[in-house]
This record gives sequence, structure tokens and C-alpha cells, in this order.
Amino acid sequence: MEKKFEELRKRCEDMAALGSAGALLGWDQNTYMPSGGAEARGKTLAVISELAHHQLTCKETGALIADLHDWAQAKGHDSFEGSFLRALKRSYDQEVKIPAELVKELSLATTAAFEAWHKARAASDFAMFAPHLEKVAELNLRKAEALGFKNSPYDALLDLYDAGMAREKLDAIFAELTAGLKPVIKAINERADKVSNAPFKGDFAPETQLKLSLEIAKALGYDLTRGRQDLSAHPFSSGISSPDDARITTRALRDWLPACVYASIHETGHALYEQGFPKEFAFTPLAGAASLGMHESQSRFWENLIGRSRPFAAWALPLYRKHFPGKFDSCTPEDIYRAANRSEASLIRVEADEVTYNLHIALRYEIETQLLDGSLKVKDAPELWNAKMQEYLGVKPAKDSEGILQDVHWGFGMIGYFPSYTVGNLISAQLHAAARKDLPGMDGLIAKGDFAPILAWLRAKVHTQGAKYKPEELLQRAIGEELSVAPFVNYIKTKYSELYGFKA
Ligand code: MG
Repeated sequence: MEKKFEELRKRCEDMAALGSAGALLGWDQNTYMPSGGAEARGKTLAVISELAHHQLTCKETGALIADLHDWAQAKGHDSFEGSFLRALKRSYDQEVKIPAELVKELSLATTAAFEAWHKARAASDFAMFAPHLEKVAELNLRKAEALGFKNSPYDALLDLYDAGMAREKLDAIFAELTAGLKPVIKAINERADKVSNAPFKGDFAPETQLKLSLEIAKALGYDLTRGRQDLSAHPFSSGISSPDDARITTRALRDWLPACVYASIHETGHALYEQGFPKEFAFTPLAGAASLGMHESQSRFWENLIGRSRPFAAWALPLYRKHFPGKFDSCTPEDIYRAANRSEASLIRVEADEVTYNLHIALRYEIETQLLDGSLKVKDAPELWNAKMQEYLGVKPAKDSEGILQDVHWGFGMIGYFPSYTVGNLISAQLHAAARKDLPGMDGLIAKGDFAPILAWLRAKVHTQGAKYKPEELLQRAIGEELSVAPFVNYIKTKYSELYGFKA
């Protein structure tokens, strides 16, 4: 059996190497590739993903998984071999269940949907995208049926991004979240002028913003011998060959400093997770996140729970002064703290603050679940979108480009992805509450820029586990809790009632 395991391991190394090559090409596509290279890059990436798919789903891999499964499980649930087989079998089962014909149809439909979405958004004309969204929903339903589910087809799609997540759980989560957040948003809307973000407005040279944000990333623990920061239109992180090559990108707006600083901190959080996988997980199915939600929890933890905290503002102010001499002379740490936490109901998800963000997700969740089960017609979706924006956030888009057409996910053929953002926000608050208990002097550490103990805590609890466990089990092992809404809502209520001066 040991010999067979080595054989399977070798196969996984090849798959990981292909994945790594694809990730590097994808990173390049979004950073430095000349625009003329797009078509060739698309073809190259398609070949790589085809090869990786074949390597995973071929008969030989299937036979080795079947032969080794019991042997590996007998080594123990926590053992390297046991976890390795579990993680690999999960991807194998998912990929073999979807018929090749459907994969092809999905890929063609997605290419067309993406193009149509682009044009429809530019023209702010939902009708141009509607038939493609219908097709995407129909094919996702077929995909869900191929994958199999107990209660709802949506569960099968959710499981691809967040193992074990289900519609039943999410219905309860979003109900509790909206009930908890709506009164906070209303109270803030009535006191909009109480908090100013003026210190972050002005003229900030983009190259200096990049230096500043890289200095912050390094201070948080980002290892630049195994990572780097570049510019891209939409910030992202990429575990090209984790843990040894985990990259981030950011963007810079000349007149608004937080766009760069906080995108950088967010992506650094993702990259710290990837850099924290044990070396022996490299080139195995364990060198990955427990789920998309867990990945997002790491970015949000640093971006919001740490990066928008009072002691962080006190630590960061001297850095802002160093990089932008004269601009922050009259600012106090409290001014910076308030500026980093102005909340405003807005139309665009990616610009939303931590109070309003999850309600943007709640409405997407409601729409996509209903599109999938057929209770909502595609043509009626924009109206529902606008009504929900009004209900949750008190604002209404004037045009579809600022409404239902703003996000690329459905154009990418992805249904069931959005909830992982909210799951990430919830986990980040749970981890933060637990870390504060384990590290009683956390505020003091942050104020002096000593982030190492906090990173060490996350490493021990989350990062070093890689993809060994499903997210629920990982959370249980890390902090002894189930996924829950209360820590997040409490954090928001406490913080924002103090900032805006109302009773929570
Ligand atoms: Mg993210």
C-alpha cells in the first residue's frame, strides 16, 4: 500500500504542478500580460485545465483512491494519509459526477455569458444579459442534479465552495443577520455626518501608496521571499505554489487612500493563510483552504477586525505621516480610526463597508436561490433586486449597471458562490473574539505593531491545518464553536453605536 500511496502522491504532485502553472498564467493575465495575448492565454489555460481534469478523473487515479481509501483511513482521521485521501476523494467525487458533455456546455455558455455581461453592464441593459442568466441557471440546475443533493439543488452548488453548507443553515443565518443589522444601518443613516472620512481624501501619489501598503503587509507578517505585491484592476491574491509562492495585488486611487491600503491588507490576509500551510503539504491536496468562507475569514480578520481597530489606527498614523509628509500633521489617532470606519449605505457591493456588506450578499442569495428553484423569473430579477436594496439599505439603484449587473459572478457561471463572503465575515468575528480571549493584551500588541503573536495564533488554529478538515470541523477544533451570527452582530453593534452615538 505504501507503494501505491507514493504512486498516488506522484500523480497529485503532477496535478498541483499543472495547477501552479495555470495560476501563474492567470496571475500574469491580470497583471502584466499585453492585451493582445488574451486569446492565446485563454487557449493555453484551457489546455492546462483539461490536463489537470483528466489527471484527476482518469481511471488510474480513481482506482488508486479506491484501493487506498480504507488503508489511509485506518491511519487515523488526523493522519497525513487519512486527510490526504479525504481531500482528494472530495474533489475526485465532484469532478467525476459532472458529465463531460455538461462541462463543455457550461464552459461555452459561460464564455458567452461573460461577454454578454460585459456589454450589458456597459450599456446598463439587463435584457442583453437575461437570456444568458437563464442559461446559466438552467445549466447550474443540471450540474446540481449531477452532483446530487438531499434537500435543495442549491446545496449541491454551495458544497462546491463551502463543504457542508446548506440552504437551510443560510436561511437562518441571513434572517438573523438582516434582523440584527437593519436597525444599525437605520441608526447610522440618521447620523451620517457624525463620522468623517476627510483625512483619507486628498492627493496621494499611487507609487507612495504602494510603498505604504507593502510596509503594512510586511508588518503583518507577509513574507516577501515567498510573495510579492503588484497592481491589478481588481485586487486579488493567488496561491501560485503555496506555501512558497503566494502573491497579492492591489489597486490605487489617487484621491482615496483606503482603496489601496485596505485592499492590500485584505489580500495579505488571504496570502498569510496560504503562506501558513505546512511545507509538507506542498504539492498535495492538503495545500489549500478548508473552504472559500474560511479563506475570506482570513482576509476580513486582518482588513476589518484588526485593520479598522482603534489600536491599529494609532499604530498606522506615524506610517501615514512618514509616507505622506505634511498630510496627516493635524490628525489624531482617533481621527484616523473614525475615518477608517465611516459607514454609508451604498449601491456597490465591492465598495460596501463592514456594516452594510452582508446585506448586499443577503439579496444576492435570495435572488439566486429563487432563480435556481424557478420561483423567480429572470426578467423579474432586477425589480426584486431594487426592492431589496430599498428594504435593506434604504438606497435604490437608478440603473442596472449599479444594480443587478454590477457583479461578474453569474456571468462567470457561478451560482452559490456569494454566501461564502458572508460566512467569511461571520468566521472572522468568531475567530477575533476567541483570539482576544487567548491573547488578553491584543490591543497593546496591535498599537505597537507587534502582530506576530496574532499571526501565530491564526497559524496554530487555522493555517497549519490546510485542507485537512471541512470548515465546520476546523472551526470546532480551532475555537470549539459552530458557525454563528451573534459574535459578528455584537461586534458591529458595539463598535458602531459608540462611533455614531446611539443605543444598540
Ligand atoms: Mg477576498
